[in-house]
Amino acid sequence: MTERATEIATGLAQVRQRIVAAMTAAGRDDPVTLVVVTKHFPAADVDALAALGVTDVGENKEQEAREKYAAVARRADLRLHFIGQLQSNKAASVARLADVVHSVDRVKLVRTLARHRDDPSDPLDVLVQVSLDDRADRGGAAPAAVPALCDEVAASTTLRLRGLMAVAPRGGDPDPAFARLREVSDGIRAAHPDATWISAGMSGDLEAAIRHGATHLRVGTAILGTRLSLG
Ligand SMILES: *Cc1c(COP(=O)(O)O)cnc(C)c1O
Repeated sequence: MTERATEIATGLAQVRQRIVAAMTAAGRDDPVTLVVVTKHFPAADVDALAALGVTDVGENKEQEAREKYAAVARRADLRLHFIGQLQSNKAASVARLADVVHSVDRVKLVRTLARHRDDPSDPLDVLVQVSLDDRADRGGAAPAAVPALCDEVAASTTLRLRGLMAVAPRGGDPDPAFARLREVSDGIRAAHPDATWISAGMSGDLEAAIRHGATHLRVGTAILGTRLSLG
């Protein structure tokens, strides 16, 4: 293994340990999916992750995702999750590129994604992003708007409603935020029993997310380290 691959293996092992410990503490033995967020890191790191058994990876910018994943040798082994705020003019590209989109927060985006994912035999998995923050500067729909958005996704033949996603408010206590997300999820599942995914939890708050039922964790820094964004 290269030095970098060893570093990635160490970070991944530490995060997997944290997940096991948090699942045990929460009394959970249901499956949880680790999405490794590869933004700001090169295609070679993604190939190293795939070689270490990672199956799910996340990106938050359309252009970076498109360019990087064209250069990933093991792309066919990976499910690509789009987790960032999505402008409507990038939605067509993301609809074709991604396997899962976590950040759907308005009707126009639902319609654009649905139109450009043209094969109903291979629907795009969609999570509706919930804003847990009045400032809403990190995207997401207000909880009151979430049921109608979920209905819109579920009505499309080329999208598959999987559940909800949220980012904890910056600097706040993640526990009440993730508890609220869980409540919104419970409400959605009454109408959409298959919408069972809860995407919550990052490097700093994955334990809190697991306590509140997260099924998908989005972890970057704790595995790949910190690196200055080049733009
Ligand atoms: C970058 C990012 C993450 C990962 O955050 P880390 O703190 O690096 O683990 C998770 N979710 C979203 C939406 C992100 O943009």
